[in-house]
Amino acid sequence: MFQIAPYDRFPPLALAPGQRVFILTGAGISAESGIRTFRDASGLWQQYRVEDVASPEGWAQDAGVVWRFYSERRAQASQCAPNPAHVALAKLEEALGDRIFLCTQNVDPLHEQAGSRRVHHMHGELFRSRCERCDAADFVDEATYFSIAAIPRCACGGRLRPHIVWFGEMPLGLDVIANELDRCDLFVTIGSSGAVYPAAGFVRQVRSRKGVRAVYVGPEGPDNAGSFDECRLGKAGEVVPGLFVT
Ligand SMILES: [Zn+2]
Repeated sequence: MFQIAPYDRFPPLALAPGQRVFILTGAGISAESGIRTFRDASGLWQQYRVEDVASPEGWAQDAGVVWRFYSERRAQASQCAPNPAHVALAKLEEALGDRIFLCTQNVDPLHEQAGSRRVHHMHGELFRSRCERCDAADFVDEATYFSIAAIPRCACGGRLRPHIVWFGEMPLGLDVIANELDRCDLFVTIGSSGAVYPAAGFVRQVRSRKGVRAVYVGPEGPDNAGSFDECRLGKAGEVVPGLFVT
């Protein structure tokens, strides 16, 4: 039976020995740490559409603007710190080992900063870059580039681009994600609006198997609330530290 209520009306979640949990985190958990999205970005960006800074077309049109945007995001994310939800998820990994799969739509490094060791960034990572052209591996890059002239080039001659999944590009590791969705016993979404696909469809994929429980955590029900067993309403930083039996 579907339930939506303030989080303190629900008992903590428990995993039986051998059971696995898939956790999906979205923008809500980062917002509580002060990470800004395109929509919250300062007035300077109001003349741009999100596609101008986050699509292959935008990159082709003006790579300098794209890098200015991500350079500002790097600088802004450097000012942010993990919140109690990130810390609780890192502790959960310590307790569960490889029985937890943490998949995030967020590109910031707050899960890692909190101590999580295995994080699947399906939309890429803000502090990594890669070549726009060749298959050279992505790498850690904390630099900022505020003009076209400042953009470094790969040995192949291609320009460096953010290691971010843009609109129209394929999320990373969908095969790994599908495999983890197929073998989890509990599916938990934290702070994801349920509007961005394919992530918004994960819950329906797990619910197609019998016996899988799906729980949502966030201040309000997501667009796809009806696909969950329970929506536990509250801020991630308040809910997640007590979400699991320890
Ligand atoms: Zn290259």
